[in-house]
Amino acid sequence: MLPLCVPNISGNEGKYLAECVSSTFVSSVGPFVDRFEAETRHATGAAWAVATSAGTTALHAALHFLGVGPGDHVIIPSLSFIATANAVAHCHATPIIIDVDVARWGLDAGLLAELLGRNCHRDSEGALRYTPTGGQIKAIMPVYAMGLPADMDSIIEVARRYNVPTVSDAAAAIGATYKGRQLAQMGADLTALSFNGNKLITSGGGGALISAAEQGGREIKHLTSTARVGGAYDHDIVGFNYRMTNLQAAVGVAQLERLAEFLDAKARIAARYAQSFEDLTGTLNFPSVDDTCGSHWLSGVYLPQATREQMDHLRQTLVASGIEARSFWKPLHMQAPYLKCPRMVNGHAEMIWGNVQPLPCSTHLTCAEQTHVIEVVRSAIEKMS
Ligand SMILES: *Cc1c(COP(=O)(O)O)cnc(C)c1O
Repeated sequence: MLPLCVPNISGNEGKYLAECVSSTFVSSVGPFVDRFEAETRHATGAAWAVATSAGTTALHAALHFLGVGPGDHVIIPSLSFIATANAVAHCHATPIIIDVDVARWGLDAGLLAELLGRNCHRDSEGALRYTPTGGQIKAIMPVYAMGLPADMDSIIEVARRYNVPTVSDAAAAIGATYKGRQLAQMGADLTALSFNGNKLITSGGGGALISAAEQGGREIKHLTSTARVGGAYDHDIVGFNYRMTNLQAAVGVAQLERLAEFLDAKARIAARYAQSFEDLTGTLNFPSVDDTCGSHWLSGVYLPQATREQMDHLRQTLVASGIEARSFWKPLHMQAPYLKCPRMVNGHAEMIWGNVQPLPCSTHLTCAEQTHVIEVVRSAIEKMS
């Protein structure tokens, strides 16, 4: 079976892991963790980077750092991986789920302005509250779906107007740029990355928090440790112990050495799919916007006019031809733990969920493998009409 997206582990991963073992630095401190943080900082234009055990834990630490707690609300887009909502739930807060825009499949800045303008009010102490529940709006979390940055200038303009901090979920977007700005400089106060196995760069499992602001790095590093102060067992706050280990960081450092190569391969794969389906009516590509360069983490086709039966049939045809094919993220407002969350949805994320077909896009996908996928998809789409 030709997989959707698997790690490309053919660089210095083994060599660096062997160094970890022979040095005995295998746990949560070690030179590779420092190197990984420095390289991540460099790759994203950040003032600081804190490596974590996962993208989910980076998001949780970020929200906790911003003071998100029981009864609060965090605004998230409906189109994301479940982890975005889970990070809010881990703070015992409730997500408010709003739909995504057509151009980028990211948090819709227009809906955000509408929600904050019409459904929220300031209390006597100046806190911004969601009127139906009375909960305080503590943060806004844009997600860079498919590795393509959301419309951050529009989102940040609204966020600043209401004085709400932003945490971007850029899980799979390392290497992306927005209006020429690197990942940490797109306007969010904090940005989270994931280095899980299905992402562009993997450390086996892991994540990071980055920021362009000088402040916050030391506190977040402390929060994601056991919060020990001094040499004895003195701990000044409740630490999360969300650290990345030196073993994971060793793999991550080897992967980051190949970031440019991986971004190139992903862009080439995306461009070839786009070109190959261009002439098929009703067949769209994943979003691309002139002033923004996504990581092309995931490639595929979008068939907004196809019926559910036709999408199911496309999937079955792919699988029967030896190509892994699953549907894409089910919208967060439809997920069991979040069915009761406040929402402002317009059907867009549901449409993407139903009509997107991700296609194989590992960085070492061969030209012949991609040709096979293209032929199978083309003939299935041609038969639809
Ligand atoms: C992968 C992913 C995460 C979670 O990262 P983990 O490292 O798996 O915890 C969060 N958000 C998005 C959008 C993702 O794609």
